[in-house]
Amino acid sequence: MGNKYLVTGGAGYVGSVVAAHLLEAGHQVTVLDDLSTGHRAGVPAGAEFIEGRIQDAAKWLDPSYRAVLHFAAFSQVGESVVNPEKYWVNNVGGTTALLAAMRDAGVRTLVFSSTAATYGEPETAPIPEDAPTAPTNPYGASKLAVDHMISGECAAHGLAAVSLRYFNVAGAHRAADGTTYGERHDPETHLIPLVLQVAQGRREAISVFGDDYPTPDGTCVRDYIHVADLAEAHLLALDAARAGEHLICNLGNGNGFSVREVIETVRKVTGHPVPEVTAPRRGGDPAVLVASAERAKELLGWRPSRTDLAGIVADAWEFARRKETA
Ligand code: UDP
Repeated sequence: MGNKYLVTGGAGYVGSVVAAHLLEAGHQVTVLDDLSTGHRAGVPAGAEFIEGRIQDAAKWLDPSYRAVLHFAAFSQVGESVVNPEKYWVNNVGGTTALLAAMRDAGVRTLVFSSTAATYGEPETAPIPEDAPTAPTNPYGASKLAVDHMISGECAAHGLAAVSLRYFNVAGAHRAADGTTYGERHDPETHLIPLVLQVAQGRREAISVFGDDYPTPDGTCVRDYIHVADLAEAHLLALDAARAGEHLICNLGNGNGFSVREVIETVRKVTGHPVPEVTAPRRGGDPAVLVASAERAKELLGWRPSRTDLAGIVADAWEFARRKETA
């Protein structure tokens, strides 16, 4: 009947989609989430749910778990700049407690939700994993600190770990039972859900944060990856993890799309007008962030299959409309 997995942050966007994929693959899933940013309704049916903090993971971890998939973290760049201590206490302190609980319980496999924000302003595009890490905000710094902690845990205590560095996760996943899992942040700060809110008439216009970047149309270029492709990489990572090794893999499509291209795609997919206004640059935004995911393809055997931006936007649109009618 499959293996048993603890998914921290499984009431959030990516965690809930990965939990749904694990269940669909026949595994048992326990979600640990304090609901500080996640939603109880996001926890897939069939998962056991514990409302609790990762700091207290020792209360629930036991040797019956084959591995932990760790998503629980604060993830807002802007908030991390004004309240950095929140990011150190939760993202770093919480993971310290989680690693200790895993050691004590003898759970020796970890898949960690890392981020392209660990690289900061890149010198190259696409970005390989051996690019310099120089985060430009406390969020990225806290995730990089955890990556370093995990490397130490592997070397000293034989943990088997894979860190997956996500680029711009987007889209929604429709599970076998028809439930759709998508992006629902409050406040919403991400481009695609915000542009969809404009298409729905819930916002007047989308602000384009800077149109004077050194890119073809002057707006920032990002690598948008479908959340279901991302989830599949986590299941492959569980198989690829080796005792004493910390594998770090980027996850992206290697294709960059500008802010204006995303807005235009939303217009085409939804058929709605999307007014836009040019606004000042947002602090800390690199001009271009595009992944080289060659390592994930080679070492995990990962094959993303939903790489078309219009398809990613269409899935996010379906989720946004369901939410509106729910
Ligand atoms: N962006 C924008 N207007 C918005 C939100 C985002 O122009 O209302 C831009 C942002 O500056 C960045 C890109 O869209 O260049 C993607 O931003 P998002 O917050 O979705 O992801 P990030 O790249 O910060 O992880």
